Formats: sequence, structure tokens, C-alpha cells
Amino acid sequence: MSNDNQTIHEFDLNIIFDYFSNTPRQGPGSPEITLKALSFIDGLTSNSKIADIGCGTGGQTMVLAQNTTSKITGIDLFSDFIRQFNQNAQKLNLQERVKGIVGNMENLPFQEEELDLIWSEGAIYNIGFERGLREWRKFLKNGGYIAVTENTWFTQERPTEIQDFWQEAYPEMDTISGKVAQMEKAGYLPIATFVVPEDCWIDYYEVQNPQMQESFLEKYKGNKSAEEFIAYQQYEAELYRKYKEYYGYVFYIGKRIR
Ligand code: SAM
Repeated sequence: MSNDNQTIHEFDLNIIFDYFSNTPRQGPGSPEITLKALSFIDGLTSNSKIADIGCGTGGQTMVLAQNTTSKITGIDLFSDFIRQFNQNAQKLNLQERVKGIVGNMENLPFQEEELDLIWSEGAIYNIGFERGLREWRKFLKNGGYIAVTENTWFTQERPTEIQDFWQEAYPEMDTISGKVAQMEKAGYLPIATFVVPEDCWIDYYEVQNPQMQESFLEKYKGNKSAEEFIAYQQYEAELYRKYKEYYGYVFYIGKRIR
């Protein structure tokens, strides 16, 4: 899904849901990367509680579930994604400890210090990285972990075209050192950061999406909103191809400390 909140909301939401509910993931990532991030988290047991915020249809949540014994709540604003999420959990026979619920990351339904781990791939930008880290911290136990991906600049300087695009789409975009400093300020010990490899984006932009786009445009033939939505997706992909050495997703893993 695009990182451009404003632009995305100009599109017909039903079209966006229809598009993304048919994709295995709604953002760049992979099972290998989810597992790599999970390898930094200690102490999860069958009594632990995990929340996956902005879970979408649950691509990464099912990987977490298959590689832990903990209880997992997936939260997403959109009921179509959650319906699909719960069907996916059922298919994998995980429904006893993996539940999807409709909810807003700005108003999470957890109690203070309830969670052992907060996960969020490609979604914290919806609330903003800094605000998300600050507001979600209270739901973590002392010593609990947070693991999120965030679009990040790789260089101090970058070409105007890409700087301007992301400045408008997501002005909070920053370098890794800037994001780590925000993490520390929000009350976390930075445990690890790593760059989500280029092939996750390539897979997302050049394999998953183009296949979807063809059948989608066929389905919505003549629908202006659908055509503009796909054109925007393609523009974002084109910019990534052109400027991928300047930015990408980074995984940030931190631990709540008093
Ligand atoms: N984590 C999934 C993945 O990596 O495939 C989905 C990532 S998708 C780029 C962002 C998700 O955030 C979407 O599923 C969207 O519905 C959800 N979202 C957007 N705003 C939200 C909010 N305020 N509260 C909860 N979820 C939200």
C-alpha cells in the first residue's frame, strides 16, 4: 500500500480494499525478514501476548504464529482485511491463539503493560513513527519488545525528485540514526536495525503487483478511480526503481526500559 495517506484517501476505498485483499501482503516484506526480526526477541512463551498492528490480511502474522507459541492479536482498521485474516488463521489451524480484530492504532484496545511484543510491518506510518512509539509504549510490559518497519532515508543527501515526493507523502521520513534517536527518546533501548533487502520491494512492485494490476484493470475497465489508483502504484514503483539506493524499509527493534 502506498505511504501517501492523503493521496490514498482520494481514491475510492472499496477499490483499494478490493485490490489489497487479493494480495498475500499489503506492503514489502517476506517470511525470512519477519523471522530475522523475530530472532532478536527473547523470552516469548505460550503465556506471552503479541499484537500485530496494521496487520492487513496477516501475511507476517501467520509467520509469527508458526514460529512462536504465544497468543497473537492482529488489529487493522479495515474489516475486509480482518475477515481474510481470520480465514487465513483458520486454514492454518491457528484460530485458537491468533485472532484478528477491527481496531484503530490510534486507540488500541489493550491494557497498560499487557503485551510482551508489539509488531507492525509497513503500518506505523499511519500514526507516525514517533507518535506510535510513544503512544504504544504503555501497552508493553517493562522489558517488552517493539518491532516495526519504517520507510527510511539511506543517505544524508538525495535527488530533489525523490526528496520532494516523500517530503509530501511522508514528511517524517528520516535517516536510520534519526529514527534510532527517536526510539531512545520514546523510552526504548534500540536492540537492532536492519535494512529490508531490495528483493522484498522488487517482489512487491514487480511480481506481486503487476500480476494483480492486469486482472484488476480488466475487472474495473473504464473506472477512472481504479485506473488512477493503479497509475499511482506504478509511479511509486518506478520511483523506487530509479532511486532505490536512497531509501527503503528498515526494521527497528527496541525494548521498553523504565
Ligand atoms: N502489515 C501488513 C503487511 O506488511 O502486509 C499490512 C501493511 S499495509 C502497507 C498497512 C496496513 O495498515 C493496512 O492493512 C491498513 O488497513 C492498516 N491501517 C491503516 N491505518 C490504520 C489505523 N489507523 N489503524 C489500524 N490499521 C490501520
